[in-house]
Amino acid sequence: MSQIAFRGYVIRGFSHGETSRIITIFTAERGKVKCLAKGLKKGSSRKGGPIQLFSLISGTFYLKEQAELGTLGTYETVNDYSQIASDIYKFGFVSAYCEIIDKSLQPGQPQPELFDFTGRFFALSMKAKSESIKTLFWAAFLKILQMMGYDPELDSCVSCQKPNPTHAAYYSPELGGIICSKDIPKGQVPAKISAAALGALRQFASLPLEEAAKSQYNSSIYKEIERFIFSFADYHMGLRPSLKSFKFLSQL
Ligand SMILES: [Zn+2]
Repeated sequence: MSQIAFRGYVIRGFSHGETSRIITIFTAERGKVKCLAKGLKKGSSRKGGPIQLFSLISGTFYLKEQAELGTLGTYETVNDYSQIASDIYKFGFVSAYCEIIDKSLQPGQPQPELFDFTGRFFALSMKAKSESIKTLFWAAFLKILQMMGYDPELDSCVSCQKPNPTHAAYYSPELGGIICSKDIPKGQVPAKISAAALGALRQFASLPLEEAAKSQYNSSIYKEIERFIFSFADYHMGLRPSLKSFKFLSQL
């Protein structure tokens, strides 16, 4: 049994028995870690206070060799982002972010760039107005694709390299980005994206997150953005729009 010091974001938690929770933490040191947190009954005097979803905590956990589930030791809250949950829209989108991270990370593999990015995303989500969270989320999702190495080509045709600064375009996750109509492979019916939605995606890709999240779009543009990003996330990472948190979002 080894004792491991960590710093990490609580990205998931559910009750386990009457007084325990199983939590998933995105740690700086080990990537995704699952831990049993015992003795969290309301009113209990456990040190460290309750474990809040989205918070940055630091502490220790214990892990047996080969085991997947650790046991949380002592911890303290470093940054409390739990207030995000008081706004149903923010809660929905930040939960979706966490589900994407949870599905993308392999246990035991640190992802320093994504770790820092997650801290920025939580901090911005906490400050953001309800109506800004949608853009913030989609911009962050595109940046996750970039960090994972599946950066879609948005500026020129992936086949003939002809630049497309202003027009609508076809796109193909298999080919890795936008393509012009003459280069569509025979027998394929690729999806199309409007100039406006493509422009939004270019902003998400090139601007820092706080800048990219400043614009808002109409619902048909968000639909196109969603279809585009999910087609790449599905093809490269196996992430489907049927994620649990997206069912919740569609009910809002
Ligand atoms: Zn072309």
